[in-house]
Amino acid sequence: MQWDQSSEIDRAGGLLKYVQPVHPSTPMLEVFERFISHTSLYSVPVVELKSPVGLVNRNKLIELFSKPFTRELYGRKPICDLMDRKPIVVDVGESTDDLARIIVDAGMQYMYDGFILTEGEAYVGMGTGHDLLNAITERKQAHLYHLAHYDQLTGLPNRLLLMDRLTHACSQAYRRERLVALLFIDLDRFKLVNDTHGHVIGDRLLQEIASRLKLCLRSNDTVARLGGDEFTVILEDIQHVETVAGVARKLLAALSAPVEIERHELFISASIGVVFYPFSNDTSESLIKKADAAMYSAKQHGRNGFQFFTWEMSAAVFERLRIENSLRYALERNELVLHYQPQVELSTGRLVGVEALLRWSHPEMGLISPDVFIPIAEECGLIHEIGEHVLRTACSQNHAWQKAGLPPVKVAVNLSACQMNQALPKLVQLILGETGLGPSYLELELTENILLENVDESIEILRELSGMGVKASIDDFGTGYSSLSYLQRLPISTLKIDRSFLFGVQSEADDTTLITTIIAMAHNMKLNVIAEGVETFCQLQMLQTNNCDYAQGYYFSRPCPANEVAELLDSRYALVSPAPRREKC
Ligand code: C2E
Ligand code: MG
Ligand code: MG
Repeated sequence: MQWDQSSEIDRAGGLLKYVQPVHPSTPMLEVFERFISHTSLYSVPVVELKSPVGLVNRNKLIELFSKPFTRELYGRKPICDLMDRKPIVVDVGESTDDLARIIVDAGMQYMYDGFILTEGEAYVGMGTGHDLLNAITERKQAHLYHLAHYDQLTGLPNRLLLMDRLTHACSQAYRRERLVALLFIDLDRFKLVNDTHGHVIGDRLLQEIASRLKLCLRSNDTVARLGGDEFTVILEDIQHVETVAGVARKLLAALSAPVEIERHELFISASIGVVFYPFSNDTSESLIKKADAAMYSAKQHGRNGFQFFTWEMSAAVFERLRIENSLRYALERNELVLHYQPQVELSTGRLVGVEALLRWSHPEMGLISPDVFIPIAEECGLIHEIGEHVLRTACSQNHAWQKAGLPPVKVAVNLSACQMNQALPKLVQLILGETGLGPSYLELELTENILLENVDESIEILRELSGMGVKASIDDFGTGYSSLSYLQRLPISTLKIDRSFLFGVQSEADDTTLITTIIAMAHNMKLNVIAEGVETFCQLQMLQTNNCDYAQGYYFSRPCPANEVAELLDSRYALVSPAPRREKC
């Protein structure tokens, strides 16, 4: 049989090579000459009726023929007298890993000899240990490269690959006089999804987000995941800034469509920050920081939107980081204190409750508003610790007032979205037990959006609390998206009308239809109504005329430290006349 090197066909990515086989009756000298003329040939398969029956090893044959008179003695003998009758024969469908295991188990000499590959028992080719080793090494390297450069959850490029592509994109843009846009995307309130639905659903959501982002973009745009719920997009070859605004809008629309995971319908939105190169002499690292700052500004502008970077944003991010860092120590340094703002019953004018409002007295930055630090605490997870501290302090303070013989009042405590979870009733019970406060003297304030995030779960939690005797109220009513009738499903006792409804009430002639309607409808639903932000006599009068049950605001008292509240409670004076005189306002 003639050996033809051109018939060596490369199959299966280099692992399967067709080596012309010989018949068992082929003379040894013929096979020997084939080895001599093809130095890269390590072994030759012996095949009879399409099936492999043996393997001839190069060294063995050459060694034999190097001895004197071998040609004459053995040259005409059939190769089957010399061949290895038990070569390794494997099916061509075996995986590389299985092949490696078979070779290693059989003994290392087979690394050199190679192995015969069959398909349905018929000879199809040969593989060598060397090729196998190469295939394994290449695969391992590709795997290691993937591990180092791609995010394992979403399969998107990670920060390392992003930086590489960003640097490359910037150098290209510079040469071609085009723009590169970097978009920093952060999901809004993603923590809440993880907290309420668990990490498995959170992970599935991130995968869905990744595929939506990819679908919206061109194949040469890079979408990467930086970690957590942070994604970035590099848009290259940009000529007009407006193009990028269009892409940002498209991404926001795609992300805000509801996602269904395991029969949960999730609503998610994102905030996007955008920075362009080369508007200034930026590095990849500084571009990411600027896009991050712009994203943060988009969050502050009400989320579910995008912002282009401006220099003022950098300063804001620096300030935020400073706040976040010192907030970590605020609790242990006792910098967080509670102030209490009286709540007045309008029919009697008596102080019947107080709202606990958190204050942070920072040693250098002075008094920081909860509107500033609570969202930061929510984002960095410190809110759990802070929220528990607030609940414990408010309950224990209220119990202390009662023990001091002051008239008992309710204390209202604000809760953040992430505190609204299955563990809440247990925590409340624990704290009431520890502090000795009766459950009817505690009220929890929740906003509409917190309750509507997961209505069924909210109902369950509120029912459990109500079973313990703890009531709940809806804070800032009118600023969310819910309708009164929708809230009817929730076991709540009180509606707090947001103070923005009182802004316009300056005189008797002002339009108060909206507030009047809310009060009437709430009463119809057997809910108490408290108006917040009452600053003027005129506003108070309007509320009394419309049968509002309670009120709270600077008109009665600003939020004040516990000892000052004790004095107000002790004075036993009505804070307001139960039936106000019809003064001109
Ligand atoms: P909120 O729960 O709606 O609290 C009422 C806010 O209105 C308080 O602001 C209060 O000082 C202010 N206020 C009361 N009366 C008047 C008034 O007559 N006029 C005006 N202009 N404002 C009035 P504050 O204390 O700055 O708190 C802001 C927000 O921070 C609170 O809004 C609440 O959402 C949040 N917050 C405060 N303490 C906590 C807390 O312990 N935990 C959580 N999760 N959030 C808190
Ligand atoms: Mg409140
Ligand atoms: Mg409020």
